[in-house]
Amino acid sequence: MGRLNFLHTDILRLSFFGIVFIILITYSLAKRIITFHVVSSAARCKRGCTIFYNQWAECKLYSELGGDCVRKKWVFISFIIFAIACSVLTYNNFQRSGKPLIPSSKDNRFERGHNVPGKLYWAGSAQDKMVALTFDDGPESNWTPKILDILKTKNVKATFFVIGQQVQQHPDILQRMDEEGHIIGNHTFSHRDLTKLDAEHVEQEIDNCALEIQKVIGKEPRFVRPPFGFHSAIVDDVVYSKDRIIILWSLDTKDWTGLDAETIKSRILPHMQNGYIVLQHDGSNPKIGGSVQALPEIIDGLKAQGYTFVTISELLDTQPYK
Ligand SMILES: [Zn+2]
Repeated sequence: MGRLNFLHTDILRLSFFGIVFIILITYSLAKRIITFHVVSSAARCKRGCTIFYNQWAECKLYSELGGDCVRKKWVFISFIIFAIACSVLTYNNFQRSGKPLIPSSKDNRFERGHNVPGKLYWAGSAQDKMVALTFDDGPESNWTPKILDILKTKNVKATFFVIGQQVQQHPDILQRMDEEGHIIGNHTFSHRDLTKLDAEHVEQEIDNCALEIQKVIGKEPRFVRPPFGFHSAIVDDVVYSKDRIIILWSLDTKDWTGLDAETIKSRILPHMQNGYIVLQHDGSNPKIGGSVQALPEIIDGLKAQGYTFVTISELLDTQPYK
């Protein structure tokens, strides 16, 4: 499913703050914020005054009367430094708030903002060399069977967070996921941003998806991944009230943006840590070909690093279904 969350990619963010920076500079020039300084005892600026660019001619005139015109270059330089600093700080802050909080060590894994034991997980235990592959937005008829074929060949079990509407269209593929030993999680009925809905509608989105899954595989998932990873206190309460668990991710491939196989691999292989949850997609998005192409090499690369592939259920040692 298409994702419209604002400024999701690094390139977009960089362009955005680059444009903000250019606008600031243009604005400053337009407003003549570049200032000059007149030191004159002869004219009306007895102790010196700051004048604007278009008054330079006047400044020259004051000079002739015994004053001194000084270009205050530092005003301009300070402004540039200030604008750069603002852009960098804003960009960094945006990055911090826009990205998932990823536990970087075993110690901070259960701190506030990271895992909430028994309720919400960004990652599994750091003790064992295990990783969990997860695929969102399916099932669909093109990518999902290809991914299932690769996982079968490589003997890897993964976790699929499926959309209720997609399940209605491809129940046979959901059935196949279950039969081949993969775990199925709830990715809501229609993939809406749950933080924009009231509690009643959040519950409907989750319950309706659970119902569609149960119709096909006869089991109701406990794992919920809110679309885009967006959740709020209201969403959390609804999820937790029915013995469900929120599963987010540790490594985001951003495969839905159309990255090629090499880039996808480079976003995973050098960054893997024990207990990490990887986010990929299998939805009806033509751009995820690179992700599917990279999958066999990701699996081989991680196996070579000594990692074992597990489902979310095994990673967290938790029941996947009610
Ligand atoms: Zn999704």
